[in-house]
Amino acid sequence: MDVLRLRRRVLRGVTPVLLALIGALVLLPVPLMHLAGIPLLGLGLYFGFRNARACEVFRSASGTCPSCNSHTDLFVGFGRPPFELPVKTSCASCGRNLMLERVSGMAEDQ
Ligand SMILES: [Zn+2]
Repeated sequence: MDVLRLRRRVLRGVTPVLLALIGALVLLPVPLMHLAGIPLLGLGLYFGFRNARACEVFRSASGTCPSCNSHTDLFVGFGRPPFELPVKTSCASCGRNLMLERVSGMAEDQ
């Protein structure tokens, strides 16, 4: 799990807004397509706010499956979207659905 510093959070938040703004400006001179710039800008603002709000991003997780007792790597996404706990995943060995939750006193680098 990566803990994001303020500078990285700001960059992650500003990037979608700038991309949406550039897209909206490109669409502006095109008749009728210029209307698509408004929802595009809204999506950029939504994802920018969501990214800037995230303080932590999961990169990887591993643990022992309570069903088959095998130690396995757990899929928690690709590290881009800001996941919030609990995270749904599944065991790579037996396929059982698992729920990852925060444990009190959890180390920052797990
Ligand atoms: Zn399992």
